[in-house]
Amino acid sequence: MKPVDVIIIGGGVGGLTCAMTICSAVNKSWFGKRRVHIIDDGQSDLSKAQLYNAPGVAIGASGTETLEHMRRQVDQYQIATFHQGSVVAAKRAADHWTLHLQDDRIMTSRVIVMATGYKRWELQGLPDPPIRHPRGGKADRIMLEHDGVYRIEDGLYVAGLLGGGSSQFAIAAGIGAQVGVEILSLWAGKRTHVHDVPNPSDTPPV
Ligand SMILES: Cc1cc2nc3c(=O)[nH]c(=O)nc-3n(C[C@H](O)[C@H](O)[C@H](O)COP(=O)(O)OP(=O)(O)OC[C@H]3O[C@@H](n4cnc5c(N)ncnc54)[C@H](O)[C@@H]3O)c2cc1C
Repeated sequence: MKPVDVIIIGGGVGGLTCAMTICSAVNKSWFGKRRVHIIDDGQSDLSKAQLYNAPGVAIGASGTETLEHMRRQVDQYQIATFHQGSVVAAKRAADHWTLHLQDDRIMTSRVIVMATGYKRWELQGLPDPPIRHPRGGKADRIMLEHDGVYRIEDGLYVAGLLGGGSSQFAIAAGIGAQVGVEILSLWAGKRTHVHDVPNPSDTPPV
């Protein structure tokens, strides 16, 4: 089985933001034919929220509709693929990871991003277990230790609240975007980011 380029485990706020940031570089010359995979089991904390303080989100939007909107933002890029499922174990080989899902599927990837939130931990096989989250508010909140820019080791990143941020939409999204930029910078071979601007040839909206 040929490893894919990147698998994001967890399709909540951090994971989806990481995915859309990576996908948005699809037209860069160095991006090549890379693809982004997201595995999620549908339990984002955001689905319980109603949002008044999430920047850029319509005032009073439900968390569920915001998640759907973020899914559509990822879906606009044909290089993104969603998989419904729970990852239960990860095993490292020299240049890739093998992921085992609860339903016995197996997937392999060169890079994995852990974006599973700060409340649950079922995954066996990572180098270190989670530690207590220092900004989580409650004793059972968790995070994974990293190098300061969310890299745990080569090919292994953490995004969203599991990266140690406080529980706000903007913070979880911001960590996801930063991880996306870190991965893009690695692929580009230089520091990079993605800024879109209006395209003058676009037909204006009527
Ligand atoms: C009741 C409530 C109200 C809130 N209100 C607000 C608010 O008003 N404003 C605000 O800014 N923030 C609010 N938040 C916080 C916001 O929802 C979180 O900060 C945000 O969802 C965290 O993003 P995350 O990506 O870290 O985790 P999540 O969004 O929780 O995403 C984690 C994802 O990982 C998946 N997952 C976990 N383990 C696995 C696995 N092994 N395999 C596959 N998938 C897995 C889960 O199904 C989930 O979809 C609220 C939270 C709650 C609970």
